[in-house]
Amino acid sequence: MAIVFNPADYEELRRHGQDTYPHECCGILLGTSQAEQRQVQGVVRMRNVNAATPENRFDFDPREHLRVQREARERGLEIIGFYHSHPDHPARPSQFDLDHASWPGYSYVIMSVAQGKTGAVNSFELAEDRSHFIQEELAVAGADL
Ligand SMILES: [Zn+2]
Repeated sequence: MAIVFNPADYEELRRHGQDTYPHECCGILLGTSQAEQRQVQGVVRMRNVNAATPENRFDFDPREHLRVQREARERGLEIIGFYHSHPDHPARPSQFDLDHASWPGYSYVIMSVAQGKTGAVNSFELAEDRSHFIQEELAVAGADL
C-alpha cells in the first residue's frame, strides 16, 4: 500500500505535531482507498485525552471518534488511517503502538517532532496477524520527499 497526501493536508499534519509539542498529537485521516493506495482528503485533529503521560502516550476521546466517523460518512469519505507524533523520539512505532493498534487495513502515520520541529514522517500498516508493522510508501502529491 501507499498513502498520498495533498500538500495542504501534509502541512496541517506536520503543524499539528508542532502545536502540541512536547505532548503527542493524534488525529484521524479521512479519504478514499483504492487497490494500491490511500488518498488523504482530510486531516482531523483529535484531542489527546491521556492526562497521565501525554508526552509519550495518546488516547482518543471515544465520543469524538464516533463524531468523526459520522461526519466522514456524511461527506462520502472513509477513515483511512490514524496519526500521532513522537516528541523527541523517532518516527517509528513503539511496542506500545503495536500493542494498541487494533486494525490491519489502515495507515498508521507517525511523525517525529524534535525540539518542537516536525522532522521525519513515516507511514505503516499493521500486518494481518498484528505481530508487526510494515512501512508503506508516503507521498505528497506534486512533491519529491
Ligand atoms: Zn507512538
